[in-house]
Amino acid sequence: TISLLALDENGNLSGACTTSGAAWKMHGRVGDSPIIGAGLFLDNEVGAAAATGMGEAMMKTAGSAMVVELMRQGKSPEEACKEVVKRIYKIYQNTPDLEWLQVGFIALNKNGEYGSYCLRPGFNYAVQTKSLKNQLIDGKYLLP
Ligand code: ASP
Repeated sequence: TISLLALDENGNLSGACTTSGAAWKMHGRVGDSPIIGAGLFLDNEVGAAAATGMGEAMMKTAGSAMVVELMRQGKSPEEACKEVVKRIYKIYQNTPDLEWLQVGFIALNKNGEYGSYCLRPGFNYAVQTKSLKNQLIDGKYLLP
């Protein structure tokens, strides 16, 4: 998945999300990326969020919409992403052979604060601001 969240100089948010889908997907599978609220969500009063990883988990939890709602309640982008990653892990934690599960979110709020969180290492994202030029940032993660 490649997702992009932006805040312009007038304070308006925008977002986009594209994916090739899951590996070995069933013919006709629709993942989370094209579903607003799952793979991408934006509320111009609050912030924006986007997801990568196993789309079914984002669809079950309305993951990106949930990240935005948690930011509305006062959580920072990183805290909001972490909370949804934890909820997803809670759903799947007793599944055997869970090594395949990866989910991650990026989020940006109206103040230009950004953050991310994912289940496992190996997820990073790039940030560009007036002072940062395509800064690559390693996503924080829940499990080693
Ligand atoms: N989220 C995508 C899907 O489940 C997979 C990806 O991260 O590219 O379709």
